[in-house]
Amino acid sequence: MITLKNLTKVYETVNYNVIALSDINYQLDKGEVVVLLGKSGSGKSTLLNILGGFDRDYAGHFILDGESMREKSEREIDTIRKRKIGFVFQHYVLLNNLTVLENVELALRVIGVTNAGSRKRAALHALKLVGLREHTDKYPYQLSGGQKQRVAIARALVKDPTIILADEPTGNLDSETSEQIFELFKELSKEKLVIVVSHDAEYAHKFGDRIIEISDGQIIADSDPI
Ligand code: ADP
Ligand code: MG
Repeated sequence: MITLKNLTKVYETVNYNVIALSDINYQLDKGEVVVLLGKSGSGKSTLLNILGGFDRDYAGHFILDGESMREKSEREIDTIRKRKIGFVFQHYVLLNNLTVLENVELALRVIGVTNAGSRKRAALHALKLVGLREHTDKYPYQLSGGQKQRVAIARALVKDPTIILADEPTGNLDSETSEQIFELFKELSKEKLVIVVSHDAEYAHKFGDRIIEISDGQIIADSDPI
């Protein structure tokens, strides 16, 4: 599903360069929760941004479903992202003036689903999958952190992407709620590739099918190497 070959990313600043990723090679397929584990500043978000198609300024190759992303235009990558990739962020990024249902539906509006009935049906289905069917008419500020993150996961899921990318999704949650979120990812990974960035080794080992440990932009351990 995803192949990275000699992936290297250098941030060039006025005074110095930061090698954020150095010669990363790996292959990832669906059916697993892959945890990218590493300390702050190790390059996790940089890698996720490239996998999400947000950052095209890298050396080496990022191949998604057999297609090299290097050869795609920004517009083509945008289309691929909308179709194949769902994102979950640490800070949820929900719109407070929209209900839970509307937040999830919005993800379908953005990708051009014009039929209101199908949007609603798909949104309700995604909310059911994350256990929020009873909360669809609430507003985000009426929810707990864990519930907000579930809404965010439903929003990522609603377009039925093949890949879910989550950057520190449990960073603001207590341990019990974090476990529930990881369990949800585990369930989703039966049919998708779920890549979760975390700095928490305990959760990584408890829920990750594969743990890729990254330090100073290099993979220093891979529980299931190529
Ligand atoms: P993580 O998500 O693991 O905390 P990041 O991928 O955000 O790490 O950062 C990796 C390295 O790249 C760090 O040294 C960080 O300071 C640097 N970095 C990240 N973004 C930028 C940027 N836009 N410009 C310059 N350096 C950056
Ligand atoms: Mg980060």
